[in-house]
Amino acid sequence: MGYKLETLALAADRDVTDEKSVAPAIHYSAVFKAAGSEEFAEMSSVPQHPRNYTRYGNPVHERVKAVMAELEGTETALVTASGMGAIATAILSVVKAGDHVVGQTRHYMSTTKLLDDMLRRFGVEVTFVDQTDVIAFDRAIRPNTRLIVLESPVNPLLLVTDIAAVTEIARARGILTLADNTFASPINQQPHRLGVDIVVHSATKYLGGHHDLTGGVICTSRVLAEQIWHTHITLGAVLSPMDAWLLLRGLRTLPMRVERINANAQALAEFLEAHAKIERVFYPGLRSHPQHGLACRQMRGFGGVVAFGVRGSYGEAQRFVEALRLPLNAGNLGGVDSLAIHTASMWAGTMSAEQMRAADIPLNFIRYSVGIEHIDDLKSDVAQALEQI
Ligand SMILES: *Cc1c(COP(=O)(O)O)cnc(C)c1O
Repeated sequence: MGYKLETLALAADRDVTDEKSVAPAIHYSAVFKAAGSEEFAEMSSVPQHPRNYTRYGNPVHERVKAVMAELEGTETALVTASGMGAIATAILSVVKAGDHVVGQTRHYMSTTKLLDDMLRRFGVEVTFVDQTDVIAFDRAIRPNTRLIVLESPVNPLLLVTDIAAVTEIARARGILTLADNTFASPINQQPHRLGVDIVVHSATKYLGGHHDLTGGVICTSRVLAEQIWHTHITLGAVLSPMDAWLLLRGLRTLPMRVERINANAQALAEFLEAHAKIERVFYPGLRSHPQHGLACRQMRGFGGVVAFGVRGSYGEAQRFVEALRLPLNAGNLGGVDSLAIHTASMWAGTMSAEQMRAADIPLNFIRYSVGIEHIDDLKSDVAQALEQI
């Protein structure tokens, strides 16, 4: 379309439907009627038809797809009921028993489970490599390698993968690449422009941006999208028309929100790094991040997730989170409200402190997802909470 991202977020879906309303209509219908048997035959046979049966497609889906494809720079897109719906559907569409997949030692937890547990159960071999080591991806490739799965930046240390270098290796060998771009959002990073074939998102995070919907997006070529769509309608992780509409509403302000969140997170990370009660801060926008140079090359901004360790152990970190007044104590990320969690608490129900130490789970770690509040308020809130430990 030739517009900048800010304009595309508003205008990319204008001609997708012929609605006269300025605000998009919510097509809350499971099924659409045909004008006659000829149209019915067409609706039933055209893949991804937007007015046939909502599991197959829906006019609101069509709008979200148009916006997301423009934002990621891909030919087209698909929407799903969740981020995991997008990741599982895309991966299961392109691998079969006997194939080999390369993934990273760190992924979103359910992605790791999908690769490590489910794929193996269906006869797919999987190798996990250190994402900071490009050569490790190359070395892991086998004659039957079909797919390389990337995610950057990734929890818990916000490590970064050299996306262009890995896709170059993959392309030379005819291997597909898939990248989870949830943490960056297309405003900060466009993996397809770095060579990735399939870009996936949890729309539950930045894309929706208001902690209200669960959704996923797959951005790719027309050919791959049609292949993935056939798996999608079989697995059935269908985004509801209402959530698609909320997602569309969220996308309108994505560029603005991400810009503000980038600025807030950078300022908060620098503030924390200079504070005596903080042991270490992990944020790709900091010079102290081990891959800051790479992050600057492939990202336009560094996102809203800041990870840090407070000086102390389990108790201090827990007290710090409890003393915070602004961020809510909740485990999502990428929305307008700041959220903070003491990461070790996630395992507290099932593991002792000793077991966590043995499993390399840092006890003093905080994951802070920065929102769009005023930065002065976020800083003074963190300062008062640090006073209390
Ligand atoms: C949240 C998340 C997912 C899963 O998304 P859901 O919408 O919760 O299914 C996948 N990848 C990343 C990086 C995430 O943060």
